[in-house]
Amino acid sequence: MKAVKGKIFFGGVHLKDEKALSCDSPTEVLPEPSTVYISVQQSLGKPAVPCVEKGDKVKEGQLIAEADGAISSNVFASVAGTVKEIKRMTAPTGAEETFIVLESDKSGEKAYLEPLDDPSAEDILGRIKAAGIVGMGGAGFPAAVKDAPKTPVDTFILNGAECEPYLTCDHRLMIERTEGIVEGARLIAKALDVTQIVIGIEKNKPDCIEAFEKYDDIKVVALAKRYPMGSEKHLIYSCTGRKVGLGKLPADVGVIVHNVGTAYAVYEAVKLGKPLYERALTVSGRAVKEPKNLWVKVGTSLKEIVDFCGGESSSPKKVVKGGPMTGIALADYDSYVTKTTGGILLMSGKEADSMEPTPCLNCGKCADVCPMHLMPMQTAFYSSAGDYENAAKLGNTLSCIECGACEYICPARRPLIQAIRKTKAAMRERAEK
Ligand code: SF4
Ligand code: SF4
Repeated sequence: MKAVKGKIFFGGVHLKDEKALSCDSPTEVLPEPSTVYISVQQSLGKPAVPCVEKGDKVKEGQLIAEADGAISSNVFASVAGTVKEIKRMTAPTGAEETFIVLESDKSGEKAYLEPLDDPSAEDILGRIKAAGIVGMGGAGFPAAVKDAPKTPVDTFILNGAECEPYLTCDHRLMIERTEGIVEGARLIAKALDVTQIVIGIEKNKPDCIEAFEKYDDIKVVALAKRYPMGSEKHLIYSCTGRKVGLGKLPADVGVIVHNVGTAYAVYEAVKLGKPLYERALTVSGRAVKEPKNLWVKVGTSLKEIVDFCGGESSSPKKVVKGGPMTGIALADYDSYVTKTTGGILLMSGKEADSMEPTPCLNCGKCADVCPMHLMPMQTAFYSSAGDYENAAKLGNTLSCIECGACEYICPARRPLIQAIRKTKAAMRERAEK
């Protein structure tokens, strides 16, 4: 279907996308690591509970930790081998998590689920849950929960925006594994009982737009290049004109959204019986020798990945796990791939902003670009005084999607995201008391 133009949402920023560094690099398969460190916290919600013990033999794709409740996800061995140990380690978020450490025996022996030939909607939903599929665009929300909305929906949107600078793994997936994504989208549409499948792709990926235009049952929307186009609410507006109000969910306007990587994982889980234990990611930035797109196993060490890309070309000013706008800055490479790791960025001094914050200028630019119509300067002002109640109320902070557009535009380099996260955490703590 010939692509149609998407609508433009309020706010947002135009970012230098830096995608040229890696978008022409076909996805390579990273050689199997000898040891993987798999966190049992692979999704939003509760961590999974280990169901293996030290010394156990496991096969690739075998369940090693079981989801604990609805908002949690099954975790699988990404290599065949032996459970070396199960231990607590600090994740990049600063939280202590349980890691299952596997030593590969390089046998590649697999333990997949039974492939499903002509699955019913119920079979598909069951498989999405069993295969531990989560939102792979970074959110990590268990996909099976999203695909069982409480209100009827009529549209399924595939998120192919990939609006974060540097990241190109979704771009490569869309041109290298188009058929698998389409198959996955059809399966999700069947599970949701919707007839309309839409894919939203930013205009800076014309080859992806062309690849999906070949399918008659998929409506292609060519989106403006504007950050945060990939945020669910903004993508829905751009693709359908429907507005998801504050505190509302996409299903409330009849829509479910999944990232293209998630749709591909659904295809693999249903048609091949393969659980989610590996994914595509981008390694980029001007401080890495060879930017690449890679297919990697969950639990692979970031150091091993960076070494495969030739190592550092200069000492990075900043190392980020994820995209530059929403990713987590790391102190070192002592971190491991999860189901939601879409990128590893080694940013040089020129790329990473090192300006020190100065007092707020009251210029209002942060509010002008906020796609959620919030007042980030108010959040920052009150949270710096420890008044989180007013920070949340006057800044409307709880509706913040943490896109980082406000901080990006701020001429005083105020640490707005930090203030937002602090306020949210304080309000959460208060609510739990
Ligand atoms: S306040 Fe939140 S939603 Fe608004 S621009 Fe900042 S990070 Fe994005
Ligand atoms: S953009 Fe920065 S300097 Fe301007 S009002 Fe917002 S926080 Fe203050």
